[in-house]
Amino acid sequence: MKSRRWVQIGFFLFIAAIAVNHGLTEAGGGISWIPNASLHAICPFGGVVTLYTYVTDGLLIKKIHESSLILMGLVLFLSILVGPAFCGWVCPLGSIQEWIGKLGRKLMGKRFNNLIPNRADQILRWLRYLILIRVLMVTAQSVQLVFSAVDPYYALFQFWTGEVAISAIVVLLVVLGLSLIVERPWCRYACPFGALLGITNLFRIFAIRRKPATCIGCKKCNAVCPMGIEVSTTTKVRDLRCITCMECTSDAACPIPETVELLGGKPNEN
Ligand code: SF4
Ligand code: SF4
Repeated sequence: MKSRRWVQIGFFLFIAAIAVNHGLTEAGGGISWIPNASLHAICPFGGVVTLYTYVTDGLLIKKIHESSLILMGLVLFLSILVGPAFCGWVCPLGSIQEWIGKLGRKLMGKRFNNLIPNRADQILRWLRYLILIRVLMVTAQSVQLVFSAVDPYYALFQFWTGEVAISAIVVLLVVLGLSLIVERPWCRYACPFGALLGITNLFRIFAIRRKPATCIGCKKCNAVCPMGIEVSTTTKVRDLRCITCMECTSDAACPIPETVELLGGKPNEN
């Protein structure tokens, strides 16, 4: 879907510009017309990890700003409406994994996305929930931003500043390397924020729906899904992994118009 590509590129460049300008400003340089905010200040997951401390003590954990709480609220509201569109359209780490995945698809051919056995995939997809629970618990106990030590999102834009832990750079390199053999490995198996947003797929107002009456069972919708969801076997996608990328609704995927759509209300079984 071309419009999504351009939105992803736009957000990637916007966030990269802010991150680089912040680093330059800290070093005494910086460009006045580019916003000067730290990556932590524009990360909605910062709002999630500080929420417990904020509610119980009225305090933000170190390095987190109130802007993170506002962004968290906006992203959660959007997710309740249309699901985790933040992951599919905005998150630069998700975008770069997808772009590397396109190269991987060319290099690996049919082996791309097929090297991890189904059983292992089904088990591994719960790992991100364990990570979410662990990050929330340790952050609440320590009142420190513990996740930044392994956060590939932070490492992606700050690796050149000397402020990033080696462990985060290693995680970033592993994620980018794995993106050559499996689509969005961090999103599928490890991202705690994606795990949280994914829960909204169970009750989101506008959902991805398939009309069985017009579906011809070609399974092209399954093939384009970056999260490995079998759209062709459901009438309403409730899978926790859906990132509302809308690839399955595109005319380039499903050959029958209006068979897979983003719709509110009750599922159309006709
Ligand atoms: S089900 Fe559709 S919208 Fe959801 S992740 Fe897969 S392709 Fe994207
Ligand atoms: S691409 Fe369209 S016609 Fe083909 S299986 Fe999916 S919903 Fe059915």
